[in-house]
Amino acid sequence: MEKQQSLKIVPLGGLGEVGRNMMLLEYERKILIIDMGFRMPEEDMPGIDFIVPNINYLRGKQKNILGIVFTHGHYDHIGAIPYLIGKIWRPNLEIFASPLTRGIILKRQEDFTSQPKLDITEVKNGSKIKLGPFRIEFFKQNHNIPDNLGLFIETPVGNIIHTSDFKFDPNPVNDLPTDFEKLKDFSKRKILLLLSDSTGAEEEGHSLSEKTIEKNLEEIFQRSTGRIIAATFSSLINRIQQIITLSEKYQRKVAIEGYSMKTNTELAKVLGYIKSKKGTIIKAKEISNYPDSRITILCTGAQGEGSAILMRIANKEHPFIRLKKGDDVILSSSVIPGNERTVQTLKDDILRQKTKVFHYKMMDIHAGGHAQQEELKEMIKIMKPKFFLPIHGQYSMLVSHAELAREAGVPEKNIVIAENGQVINLNQKRILVEKKTVPSNYVMVDGLGIGDVGEVVLRDRQMLARDGMFVIVVIVDKQTGQVKGSPDIISRGFVYLRESKELLAQTRKKVIEIVNRAAGSGGAVNWSYIKDEIRNKIGQFLYTKTQRRPIILPVVIEV
Ligand SMILES: [Zn+2]
Repeated sequence: MEKQQSLKIVPLGGLGEVGRNMMLLEYERKILIIDMGFRMPEEDMPGIDFIVPNINYLRGKQKNILGIVFTHGHYDHIGAIPYLIGKIWRPNLEIFASPLTRGIILKRQEDFTSQPKLDITEVKNGSKIKLGPFRIEFFKQNHNIPDNLGLFIETPVGNIIHTSDFKFDPNPVNDLPTDFEKLKDFSKRKILLLLSDSTGAEEEGHSLSEKTIEKNLEEIFQRSTGRIIAATFSSLINRIQQIITLSEKYQRKVAIEGYSMKTNTELAKVLGYIKSKKGTIIKAKEISNYPDSRITILCTGAQGEGSAILMRIANKEHPFIRLKKGDDVILSSSVIPGNERTVQTLKDDILRQKTKVFHYKMMDIHAGGHAQQEELKEMIKIMKPKFFLPIHGQYSMLVSHAELAREAGVPEKNIVIAENGQVINLNQKRILVEKKTVPSNYVMVDGLGIGDVGEVVLRDRQMLARDGMFVIVVIVDKQTGQVKGSPDIISRGFVYLRESKELLAQTRKKVIEIVNRAAGSGGAVNWSYIKDEIRNKIGQFLYTKTQRRPIILPVVIEV
């Protein structure tokens, strides 16, 4: 076999979007996988729970997969594991993650039955591993979850830095500040390519230190005289810690509500990433034993997710927690563009109950955790990479980050902006995007089904939501092929039937014509053809009359 001189970098998710991070490094057909995240659906995807990366490219290549490394425990980096791991599974598949990331992954796997048993090797700051042609050294990176690891990867074409999600933090929570000496040491070993987090690339200046975020949160604690109800993300371990720390400082007990919030907090406590004094954390049922000014409720639902705790409290569906005058609710802004409306409704519902709402951006999983323009430039200046590829972010963020790289001295021709499914080809001398792409379209998870909701199902749901449905039941005489009686029409979400008698009468007449004409021509009756005719002709007819396109379901019954 001819020796391959270049390395392929294949982003399957996370480039051109926030979330769903997954990337492959491929050399001589050997593949290293970095992260397997999911993202939340957009507002026009009714009934879809998650979107996961498309891994068709890996089909039949199981034996070439060297292993998987995970950078940190956020769901946009690990969330797709239960949906994808079975498809690339082979015994002795090597997986690496930091202790907290490993804990979160394994805990979550318990909720999914019939999963292969994952054997995850713990790695931490300074750990070195070798996987085929790749040597990887892990290094600590600050973020808004502890135990986050960047990757220094020696490849046959040169050294690569993958920053993971990161920020430079002089005052982190339960963590050490960024080790700049270590970053400079990597740089001395010459960096061919820098892959760096773009999520904060459109934000000027420097990200806030976790200590500063805590100070800002403290203002709410200082002023509050009632209960504090703080909704955040269950994987935002640093925020959970800060709320516990502040509650202790202001003599409040903390009740934790929500399954994922409880399990993640317990796990992080056991592993030493969340610290609390004995007696601080109480059961939610015990909150009535304390004055309101001594209570913090920490819960899920910062984004107005339908099933989350805050939503249930706001809708008076929670078994025993009700909002009342004097409560202070801390809510995050939304991560998902288009989700603002849901958050707005939630906010209004809370306010109607005479409760104060603090819309606090730093409760958001992507706010405060990512390097902003000054830090991103600093990272580029430290690493002095020959080539630069911005990762993790919407297209506009990638473009901003590329601009920062130019300002930091990377020549324009050495910067590549690529999106999901593109193949980046790298050697010592050049970087380019290949013409050929690999599949990277959305794979949607709907309940427990993975990928069985395709574009067609989604389009149907969108049509149902927009224009409703229209069922036509026709009874046909088996002997003659002619319609018996008058077709039955059932419709939902289309027009109010009682006020549309004329439209319905015309529709019935047309259906009879279509069926009788088709059946009357003699020979065997092609029912699927007749159904298509009904669907098309009635569809056109209803559109000309109403400017709507309901889903039409023809039902033909032979008697
Ligand atoms: Zn993250």
